[in-house]
Amino acid sequence: IYGPRRRNSRGFDLNIRSQYQPLMDAMAKTMDKTWQAGPLLAFEVKADPANTHEVTCPYDRRRQVGTIQWTTQEQAGKALDAAWAAFPRWEATPVAERAAIVRRLGDLMEAHMAELMTLCSREGGKLLTDGIDEVREAVDFCRYYAMKAEELFAKPTRLPGPTGESNDLMMGGKGVFAAISPWNFPVAIFCGQLVAAAVAGNTVLAKPAEQTSLIAHRVIELLYEAGMPRDVVQLLPGDGPTVGSVLTSDPRITGVVFTGGTDTAQIINRALAARDNAPLPTLIAETGGMNAMIVDSTALPEQVVVDAVRSAFQSAGQRCSALRVLYLQEDVADRVIEILKGAMDELQVGDPRDLGTDVGPVIDEDARQGLTAHIERLKGEGRLVAETRLDPAQTADGTFVAPVAFEIDGIEALEREQFGPVLHIVRYKASEIDRVVDAINGRGYGLTFGVHSRNESFAEEIAKKMRVGNIYVNRNIIGAVVGVQPFGGQGLSGTGPKAGGPHYLLRFATEKTVTVNT
Ligand code: NAP
Repeated sequence: IYGPRRRNSRGFDLNIRSQYQPLMDAMAKTMDKTWQAGPLLAFEVKADPANTHEVTCPYDRRRQVGTIQWTTQEQAGKALDAAWAAFPRWEATPVAERAAIVRRLGDLMEAHMAELMTLCSREGGKLLTDGIDEVREAVDFCRYYAMKAEELFAKPTRLPGPTGESNDLMMGGKGVFAAISPWNFPVAIFCGQLVAAAVAGNTVLAKPAEQTSLIAHRVIELLYEAGMPRDVVQLLPGDGPTVGSVLTSDPRITGVVFTGGTDTAQIINRALAARDNAPLPTLIAETGGMNAMIVDSTALPEQVVVDAVRSAFQSAGQRCSALRVLYLQEDVADRVIEILKGAMDELQVGDPRDLGTDVGPVIDEDARQGLTAHIERLKGEGRLVAETRLDPAQTADGTFVAPVAFEIDGIEALEREQFGPVLHIVRYKASEIDRVVDAINGRGYGLTFGVHSRNESFAEEIAKKMRVGNIYVNRNIIGAVVGVQPFGGQGLSGTGPKAGGPHYLLRFATEKTVTVNT
């Protein structure tokens, strides 16, 4: 299914001791390291203690993971000068050379799996299994986009035309791209954005999320080791508004690829539109979701619970694709809820490095407080269905939130995406199904959606009506695979094109038609 020209990333089965132990031994080598990082720019950056910030560990706030020096606005401006100057040279570099660098990055990340997993866990609070998936997805992005770039950009497409004339469609880069990424996929999304932009012939200024800048720094070091020139991809860690204001206000930025919250995408969109005399920019925004699953009376309750728990609570619910609202048809609702309670009682919340842990911490104290406020409000309204117990010995020092489920009246009752392990349940009558579909579509988000039913035509009909990017029938709704399930939403959830899909690179490219009178 992957085609002959792309190697699948290497996987690990942690249940097999001969695979688990070497990986753990390799992770142990960097587990106690204190990391130091800062901007990686085309020019040298002096150490600046006044502009250096501590990075702490989400599962143990007493532990410092390292420090990160932020980029100043002046440095961001100079980085942009360098990226602008490098663009013509990089665009003229043969696509095979660009793709080779990107492939080498994939190989290097695969070789450094353990180190990147350590960082994912210590800086990002990720479970071991999530860390593996994360690095594998980044490797897959490198190999997939390298392959697609060679297919799309290697030579012009000769088009049919009248005798005495040749017509060629040629692809080129657009210029300088700002790549702005979130903390929840600190390797995969960070890397996917920038390799797509670069392999298509653009120079890139990458701004990682504040919370996961150390991971981004290590990926860029590997990218330079893979042969990427320093003026083609530069790393600008820092806070969004400070670095972002340079990246979104300068007329030399020809495109922004952004993944994060819908509100932030709207701020960036407005900033780009406010630039005087600037070329019309490209904005690729992949944003949040209010993802639902509809379960009808023919569904298998046990399977529904397995898939709902995985969709809602894996990665502590910190996936844009995560399940937020579970619609249960009234005939099966009590049975599903009963099994769900049992399953949530079994979940282990704690240190993400332990194999027995199901749910790790949320990213930071701000996230914990925001989720706690939402949970307290719903508890106050007496709508609690189930809550996993937190063991203080496991969780006292980190930013943990217990997985929790509430009944609510409908998706309309939710003001915003709750980015954590909170599942909302809505009961509906079979006669109300059209109203349910309208309510979900009416929220305006359109990222992932699931349907559980053994009635094929019901599932098909619902799937057809849903205005979302990724639909899953009778399975969980997370974990899209590069090149197999191209990922991305519509409406408030994003502009498209789909990451890991065949059309993604085209949005980073210009098309030129050359007509020659022969
Ligand atoms: P976020 O707060 O919107 O931040 C995303 C990035 O934007 C960060 O690097 C942030 O910098 C930067 N930023 C903030 N303000 C900015 C500004 N004014 N100008 C330029 N950049 C600015 O999102 P997040 O909390 O990191 O990530 C969680 C969100 O991402 C959720 O809504 C989730 O659904 C969404 N997401 C979507 C997808 C998808 O594919 N659709 C995938 C993953 C995540 P700072 O670090 O300084 O804040």
